[in-house]
Amino acid sequence: MDLFEYQARDLFAKHGVPVLDGEVIETPEAARAVAERLGGRAVVKAQVKTGGRGKAGGVKLAADPEDAVAKAGQILGMDIKGHTVHKVMLAATADIAEEYYVSFLLDRSNRTFLAMASVEGGMEIEEVAVNNPSALAKIPVDANEGCTAEKAAEIVAAAKFPVDVADQIAEVLQQLWKVFVAEDALLVEVNPLIKSGDGRIIALDGKVSLDANADFRQPGHEALEDKAAANPLEAAAKAKGLNYVKLDGEVGIIGNGAGLVMSTLDVVAYAGEAHGGVKPANFLDIGGGASAEVMANGLEIILGDPDVRSVFVNVFGGITACDAVANGIVQALELLRSKGEDVTKPLVVRLDGNNAELGRQILTDANHPLVQQVDTMDGAADKAAELAAAK
Ligand code: GDP
Ligand code: MN
Repeated sequence: MDLFEYQARDLFAKHGVPVLDGEVIETPEAARAVAERLGGRAVVKAQVKTGGRGKAGGVKLAADPEDAVAKAGQILGMDIKGHTVHKVMLAATADIAEEYYVSFLLDRSNRTFLAMASVEGGMEIEEVAVNNPSALAKIPVDANEGCTAEKAAEIVAAAKFPVDVADQIAEVLQQLWKVFVAEDALLVEVNPLIKSGDGRIIALDGKVSLDANADFRQPGHEALEDKAAANPLEAAAKAKGLNYVKLDGEVGIIGNGAGLVMSTLDVVAYAGEAHGGVKPANFLDIGGGASAEVMANGLEIILGDPDVRSVFVNVFGGITACDAVANGIVQALELLRSKGEDVTKPLVVRLDGNNAELGRQILTDANHPLVQQVDTMDGAADKAAELAAAK
């Protein structure tokens, strides 16, 4: 989960990283009081989860509270790389002498963590990385040792930070590492990390990405979610404990096991080519224990997606055998009907594996008008694509 700058700044402050005072607002008029509190002058910064806000006009200096209202009005509602600005942060202004860059991130390809640092921070860091890679120091950080004082000194030396700020930056690196570990982050980036006119090191911008796999031990992180931006179906699925990802096609997909569901997406996309280019509408893994309730929850989410025109239920019976899954489907349809949620979209079911024959018989006996069975995965994908294209 990527955070907004103001949320990153709050985490920085919590772990001792030096930041400037600021406050988030959602209306231009609210800027006045905040600017007054900050001493009149303020930086007005768009809060969107994308970089390059400065270049897009999403970071503006306001000379006084009146100007802050005007600048907030210009930035709120602005579109930055497809992200609409709903919030702006007003921050105390900084007197910038130099702009540096520092970050910690998970380096998957080298199975380690990585520190990156440069004296050439600021809005052109991407160009620096491409055109002048030697100006961007990259130092591996061992997970067991972390960013010790020695490691911080190594990073400072590799990036050639000036002597007068070396100790301060080494200190900030260790505090940022604390953020990285304590908050279970995948990325902690500061650009620019500035040296102010009076020689202080301050994190002026922050980018943090948190590891959702650690949510179970980070109860505080739920509050950081941008609920307004979440897809409503994904949010409903999450509340029901389902592994659901919305895609932009027309064939709803339910399967048991992530690997099976992923290959189902491929097979449906391939089959769809012969039917006007229909595609999978979602990823939904109902896991091993496909009870009637889980199946009903899954069907409810998928049928609630207005883009869905047919549903492909692809199950390979294992510990939960096909007869249990078939009963689950029958009961799920009954459950939805009793809740008044009319099922009007065709379902194609493919059962294979443990007790497949028994499962198929249960569905045949139930004789639901919208359910049809195809015994092969390719055949079922083709049928589901055909039905989606015909509707
Ligand atoms: P980004 O473009 O999305 O990375 O947004 P940043 O927060 O990094 O801001 C872009 C640029 O605006 C920075 O590199 C600074 O040069 C400038 N900037 C940001 N805050 C201040 C400030 O308080 N004072 C001054 N003078 N410039 C600022
Ligand atoms: Mn920045």
